[in-house]
This record gives sequence, C-alpha cells and structure tokens, in this order.
Amino acid sequence: MDIKTVGVIGAGQMGSGIAQVMMTAGYEVLLNDISQDSLDKAVAQIDALLERQVSRDRMAAADKAAAMARLHTTLTLSDLGPSDLIIEAATERETVKMAIFEDLRAHLGRDTILTSNTSSISITRLASRTDRPEKFMGFHFMNPVPVMQLVELIRGIATDDATYDTCLKVVENLGKTAASAEDFPGFIVNRILMPMINEAVYTLYEGVGSVQSIDESMKLGANHPMGPLQLADFIGLDTCLAIMNVLHDGLADTKYRPCPLLTKYVEAGWLGRKTKRGFYDYRGETPVPTR
Ligand code: NAD
Repeated sequence: MDIKTVGVIGAGQMGSGIAQVMMTAGYEVLLNDISQDSLDKAVAQIDALLERQVSRDRMAAADKAAAMARLHTTLTLSDLGPSDLIIEAATERETVKMAIFEDLRAHLGRDTILTSNTSSISITRLASRTDRPEKFMGFHFMNPVPVMQLVELIRGIATDDATYDTCLKVVENLGKTAASAEDFPGFIVNRILMPMINEAVYTLYEGVGSVQSIDESMKLGANHPMGPLQLADFIGLDTCLAIMNVLHDGLADTKYRPCPLLTKYVEAGWLGRKTKRGFYDYRGETPVPTR
C-alpha cells in the first residue's frame, strides 16, 4: 500500500515531532489533539524548528513553505478516519488510548493502518480493541523525533506482513532506520536502557557513587554521550518509573524492581528537567546535583 496521508493523534512532544518529520518527507499530515492550545504550540514549534533549518541553509525556504502547507490540524478525531496511516501519540494511559481507538472505529477507511507510538503498553492488547488487529502495530519513535535515527517497529500477535512492510517503507522514506521488535514489555530499547538507568539509581541509593561520579563514570568509562542520571532527568523520572513498573509487572522478575529512591523522587514531584528538579537542580544557570 502506498501511504500518502498520515493522521497523528496527540500534539505533545512526540506527536509534534512525528508530524514534523512526516510533512518534511512529503506526506500530508492531519494532526489531532483534544487541546487547541497543544495544536497551536505544536504548529508554532514545527514552524520555528524548520525556520532554524532554513537559516542554517539546511532547507530551502520554498521547501519549508511546501512542508508547512502539508500540515493540517483538527480537534475532531473522526476527521482522521480516511488517512492511509494513523499514528497515535496521545498521553501514555491505556484508558486514553483504548477510548481513541474505539471512537475512531466507525470512521476508519477500509485499508487504514493503525499504529501506536506507546513506549510500554501491549500492542496486542491495544489491537484487540480495534476491528483490524492484522492492520495494527507499534510505530515507536525516539525523543526528540527529528534528531533520533531509530524507529522500533513492533508486531502485535496478529500483525500481517503487508502492514509491517508498509510501515517499514515509511520509516525508510523518513531517512530513519527501523529495528524490528516483538511485542514484549519495553520492546528493545527500553528493555535494555531502563534497567541500566534503574541500576544507576541503585548505585546512588546504596552510596556507591554520587550523582556526579556515576554520570562521569558512564560518560568517560563507557563512552555514553550523557550520564544515566542526566538521561533519566531528560526522559522524565515519572516515565522511567512507569516503564520499570511495566517491566516488573509484565515480566514478573524481581530484577526489574524499581529503585525506592526513584519512587521517592517521583513522589516528591522531582521529575527531572520538566519540573526543574530531579537528580540535578535546573533552577540556576548550571545544573547542580541534588545528592
Ligand atoms: P505529551 O504529554 O507531551 O503529549 C500528549 C498529548 O496528547 C497532549 O498534547 C494531550 O493533550 C494529548 N491527548 C491526550 N488525550 C488525547 C485524546 N483523547 N485525543 C487526542 N489527544 C490527546 O506526551 P508525549 O511525551 O508526546 O508522549 C506521547 C506518546 O509517545 C506516549 O504514548 C509515550 O509513551 C510515547 N513516547 C514518548 C517518548 C518520550 O520520550 N516522551 C518517547 C517515545 C514514545
């Protein structure tokens, strides 16, 4: 199937990035959110990011204008029904996603492929609530979408080969690289990354190292571009905890138990960069370790 129109549900961090890379690659994009404010912010952010590309001579002004003309927004979910491909990137809550797929059901085109950008919810379980589990799969972008090269493509138990191949072609058209993952908790990236971050928090909790020595060790000793605690603050400590809980519950193995110190930071509302405090305090000029 040849994809021409893409519906994106949710205009937050991920949805706006997904819309940006899709419209830049030549797809017509219809972006939906329940909040007009989120839609307005997403359009303004995409415009500013593309303008930066133009000012750095990485994009022609005419190409930017053509890309912006391919972006449309709507508050009405059913408008997305006829799209060739739908990527759901709304809030990471199963009830929210289930309600979206149920509301869409009556409006979908016969051949529309449905996908979710979820980081942790079972693709097979989401697919089971639609009328087309064979045309449903995980389309998992990394954050920030325009920068990160990888997209995980996750097959649910019923996903057919034609659906997978069509999504793979879209990833290639974006100039990105796909990794194929089976539908088990955390898929590939978070299955490996989150236990590493959680172990870094245990290392801090047990007093083996300070925030600074842990991050320095992994940057200089393992050649990671960011320390694990710095990365956790970037991702959001609530998100890290939620993913550890999904691994712990879904794989039923104590090696995935979330570190109590991670839970404590989340209970304090110290969620990382987005709340200006996490393993570092971001309220001043330079980040200061909080332990
Ligand atoms: P976000 O909070 O920035 O944005 C979510 C958006 O969804 C908000 O604008 C909200 O108004 C909107 N929304 C909520 N309910 C809706 C509904 N019923 N219909 C339409 N829009 C609705 O969240 P995000 O970080 O962009 O995450 C979105 C999805 O992407 C989640 O499934 C998350 O797991 C996944 N994801 C996030 C990251 C990340 O690093 N943030 C990385 C990969 C995948």
